[in-house]
Amino acid sequence: RIVIIGSANVDHVMSFDYLPSPGQTLLSQQYRIEHGGKGANQALACARLATAQSQIDFICHLGCDAIADEMSASWIKDGISPQGISKLAGEQTGSAMIFLGEKGANAIGVALGANASLTPQSLEKHRSLITDANWLLIQLETPTASVAHALNLAKSHGTRTILNPAPAATLSHDILRAVDIITPNETEAQAITGIEVSDIATAKLAAQMLHQLGPSIVIITLGQQGAYLSCDEFKGQITAPAVDAVDTVAAGDTFNGALTIALSEGGSIVEAVKFANRAAAKAVTKPGAQRSIPYRSELV
Ligand code: ADP
Repeated sequence: RIVIIGSANVDHVMSFDYLPSPGQTLLSQQYRIEHGGKGANQALACARLATAQSQIDFICHLGCDAIADEMSASWIKDGISPQGISKLAGEQTGSAMIFLGEKGANAIGVALGANASLTPQSLEKHRSLITDANWLLIQLETPTASVAHALNLAKSHGTRTILNPAPAATLSHDILRAVDIITPNETEAQAITGIEVSDIATAKLAAQMLHQLGPSIVIITLGQQGAYLSCDEFKGQITAPAVDAVDTVAAGDTFNGALTIALSEGGSIVEAVKFANRAAAKAVTKPGAQRSIPYRSELV
């Protein structure tokens, strides 16, 4: 049993030749709606990559709107159990307005919507989903107090904990000491440790500092270089397959979901990181967020 706790968002993405200035109206050349949010992406990665026996619960808050119905129906179809998904009366599903301009320039506005009300009290309603799980996977797009509450609740009931500390933030000891496995990318590792991670030597230094703060397993993802794993059994780089990258959105989320699934199936940590690299490399060959997350059958 795996429980994921986190955000769910709908992204409205428009592309322009250049970003509109204040007061200006431009016609978009392309408009698309993407289902996203780190929590939802990671839960979906778990569900798509799991074998049939696994139970995948996703604790999240959606609004009472059409997009909530559409997103939750697609997650359930792919194998996420419905009981952790709440649709709150009078609230809107979290959303982001993303404007893309020239050479990767962007301007983004986010409305947290129902994600903001995923409080420690609301997590208590789903207490048994956390305490009965074998693994908890959580990120930082929901209120910090809830992240701390969930990790401590899990830890005190023997549920093993994986924190993907994204988006980048500094973290309290209360959070870090309840984490078994931490999975920052280079920017996030720097935000926590102050060490600029740019190669294997600096990843090793950052990992040593992260161990001192709590987690016994540190995995720093390194984009196309794969990941740096640091634990008792193994310290070193594990490379990702070489692929033609199209879009790296949701690569980190796919990595985290795949890692969790491989560990829940009893794989070693080295095998789990290899599987996560394979799944994430597959995700970067496709455009979009949840659209790009592979199914297990694609990884043969
Ligand atoms: P994030 O997307 O969270 O910033 P990374 O950029 O480190 O995280 O990517 C996460 C994982 O996705 C990597 O560890 C790797 O497995 C995979 N990945 C990312 N970019 C590539 C790439 N260009 N080629 C192959 N794999 C990639």
